[in-house]
Amino acid sequence: MMKCDIITLFPGMVAPALHESILKRAQERRFLEIGVHRLRDYATDKHQTTDDVPYGGGPGMVLKPEPIFAVVEKIHREQGETRIIMPSPQGKRFDQKMASAFSKEERRLVFICGHYEGIDARVKEGMPVEEVSIGDYILTGGELAALVMIDAAARLIPGVLGEPASLEEESFASSLLEYPQYTRPVEFRGLRVPDILLSGNHKSIRTWRKQQALLNTLRKRPDLLADASLTEDEKEWVDRQCDTVKSHS
Ligand code: SAM
Repeated sequence: MMKCDIITLFPGMVAPALHESILKRAQERRFLEIGVHRLRDYATDKHQTTDDVPYGGGPGMVLKPEPIFAVVEKIHREQGETRIIMPSPQGKRFDQKMASAFSKEERRLVFICGHYEGIDARVKEGMPVEEVSIGDYILTGGELAALVMIDAAARLIPGVLGEPASLEEESFASSLLEYPQYTRPVEFRGLRVPDILLSGNHKSIRTWRKQQALLNTLRKRPDLLADASLTEDEKEWVDRQCDTVKSHS
C-alpha cells in the first residue's frame, strides 16, 4: 500500500481530488492511504499563526517552521518511517521514473505544501527534505503539485488500474510517446479509423502501433529517443523516417 500525508493550510483544496474516480477507489480498496493534516491545527499561539513577514523585508508571507516541525514529528512518531517531499519550483523535476519510485515507496510520503512566498528555510535545513518541482512555472501553493505527484504514482500501484497492460504501452513507459488511439464509430465527419486497426491481424496491429509510437516521439519529443530501447530494425526504421523528414524540409 502507498501511504501519503499532505500537510496544508488549505485542506479544502485537496479533498475534492481525493474523493473522485481512481484515487477514491484506490483508497476504498486499500491500495492507497492518504492523511490530510491542517497546518493551522499545529500552530502554537492563541491566534493559530502559521505565517509571518520575511526577515530582511520584501513582499508576501512565509510559512513558519514550528507548526511544520510539529506535524511532521507527530506523523513520524505515530506512523513510522517517512520520506519528506517539499513541492517547490526549485526542486528536482518530477517525472515518470519518480512516480514509479513513489508508487513502490515503503515509507510514508509526507508532502509539505508551501503557500504565499514559501516556507522558512530552516525546515529544509532541519529535516531531510526532497524538493520536487512539477515544472518551470510558479503555482500559488504546493497542493496541486502534491496531487499531481500522488495521482501519477497511485495509478502505477499494481491493481489500481483495471488493466496493467495499459501501463506498459502508454507514453513514457518505454521512453516513447503512445501511438494514436481510436474508438467507435469507424467513420466520423469523413475521418476514418485506420484500416489496419479493423483488420483483426494482431501482429500487424502491434507493428503499426510501434511505428506510430516512434513517429509520434520523433515528431513531438525527439529528445526521448536517446533513452528508448529499440531493436536494430526499429532503429533503421527511425533513421529512414528521419531521412524522409529531412528531405521534405
Ligand atoms: N517564492 C518561491 C520561489 O520563488 O521559489 C515560490 C513560492 S510559490 C508562490 C508557493 C508554493 O507553491 C511553494 O512553496 C511550493 O510549495 C508551491 N509551488 C509553486 N510552484 C511549484 C512548482 N512548479 N512545483 C512544485 N511546487 C510548486
